[in-house]
Amino acid sequence: MSETPHNKQLYIETVGCQMNMLDSELVVAALRKQQFELTNDIKAADTILFNTCSVREHAEHKIYSQLGRIKFQKRSRPNLVIGVMGCMAQKDQELIFEKAPHVDLVVGTGQLGEIPKLIDEARSSRERQTALSLDRKGGSRESVANSFESYDPLRDPEMRPSPYQAFVRIMIGCDKFCTYCVVPMTRGPEQSRPPSLIASEVRTLAEQGVKEVTLLGQTVNSYRHTEDGREYRMSDLLELIHDTEGIERIKFVTNYPKDMTDDLLQAVRDLPKVCRYLHVPAQSGCDDQLKAMKRGYTVAEYREMMQRINATIPGCAVSSDFIVGFCGESEESFQKSMALIEEFRFKNSFIFKYSERPGTKANGLWPDDIPEDVKKRRNNEMLDLQNRISEEDNAEFIGTTVQVLCEGASKTATKRGDADSDSPSIQLVGRTDCDRIVVFDGNPRLAGSMVEVDVHDITATTLLGSIVTRQITHGMEIDLPVVS
Ligand code: SF4
Repeated sequence: MSETPHNKQLYIETVGCQMNMLDSELVVAALRKQQFELTNDIKAADTILFNTCSVREHAEHKIYSQLGRIKFQKRSRPNLVIGVMGCMAQKDQELIFEKAPHVDLVVGTGQLGEIPKLIDEARSSRERQTALSLDRKGGSRESVANSFESYDPLRDPEMRPSPYQAFVRIMIGCDKFCTYCVVPMTRGPEQSRPPSLIASEVRTLAEQGVKEVTLLGQTVNSYRHTEDGREYRMSDLLELIHDTEGIERIKFVTNYPKDMTDDLLQAVRDLPKVCRYLHVPAQSGCDDQLKAMKRGYTVAEYREMMQRINATIPGCAVSSDFIVGFCGESEESFQKSMALIEEFRFKNSFIFKYSERPGTKANGLWPDDIPEDVKKRRNNEMLDLQNRISEEDNAEFIGTTVQVLCEGASKTATKRGDADSDSPSIQLVGRTDCDRIVVFDGNPRLAGSMVEVDVHDITATTLLGSIVTRQITHGMEIDLPVVS
């Protein structure tokens, strides 16, 4: 492709969590309104953006390597604009320009609305552009909070990755300050969005065809906002949006164990559109480690929470996060985490090897003293245990019929190119109400509909099955497996 002075081809690479995925989606939507087009070819783009994550060292290394790789393009392509946005931008700030002088803009998580303007300015002035929020210690809580803006413009339907599913941000930031985590610094103070705004966003999404919304927050169940003299908690918010016409499923991630209140559990139990699925990171099964991490709860308190979940919402799927190799983690501490997984049989666990993060409390207090090979071994042992449990629990579904919201072509079908073919039957993927992934064959037109699937096989991560349709024959209802 020949390059024109302003070819408006945008390449964006996103690492990190769902919050980052949503941020990228919104930035792309804003740039599309200015006639930018997305390209997967970094060499064809005249605007390259990296939406970054600082939670793990590895994610940062990946971005710096990518920046190194495109350094030489800048010399031969004077119109190229390279931007770093998100958590790493907020955390590293000027350091990014020092390490990668060819970068044109550095934009923090609280300033994403500035990006279209800054790209224009960088291109016309050829000067570096920076838009950052205040540091956590850069002023009063209020002034720091005001410097982080929640970026939630309305999205056009064709700009969402899936027409039937959408993320909705309900809060930004975090005030928990776990000692290993940079998020309170990169995303600022905890701030909940007004319930009326969230409800209106959900209504708009539903009118655009969205069936499933996932409410996002770093500690989503800490949601609190007072509007018109009434305080809304997470349970009130769920009730407020529950009857939105067209919405069939509501999920919310990620939960903080200490804020898992009874009213929220009762809301999940009583509101049929709310998925019976809770992601509540434990991080460790050892009290000493939890204390060092400053998680704010003990193993006994986490256990009490799990008992309340199971008693209030029988059959609710719970998933967790664990950090292995955190400062001072003994073999005994690690085994306590393994025992916790055995005890609660999580649907799945996201397991991470600890990596030291500059700017966190842990970084200043303790050495990162667990050797890499020990971290790796613990990581693998924990994964093996969780996989065994997930496989055993998924096996219970064999022979049952599950309700699935069909999301469209599976990864395999997309890779094979089946998704773009006219085939009446391709491999599809969807999720159950308790967030289990289901793969089955069917017509691509089923994307966005609720289907029933007979499960006949499983893996640790997936249920495999075939669609059931009900056909009325001579007054009798029979089940028919559908192939197309
Ligand atoms: S709760 Fe802890 S781990 Fe989660 S975002 Fe806040 S500080 Fe980080």
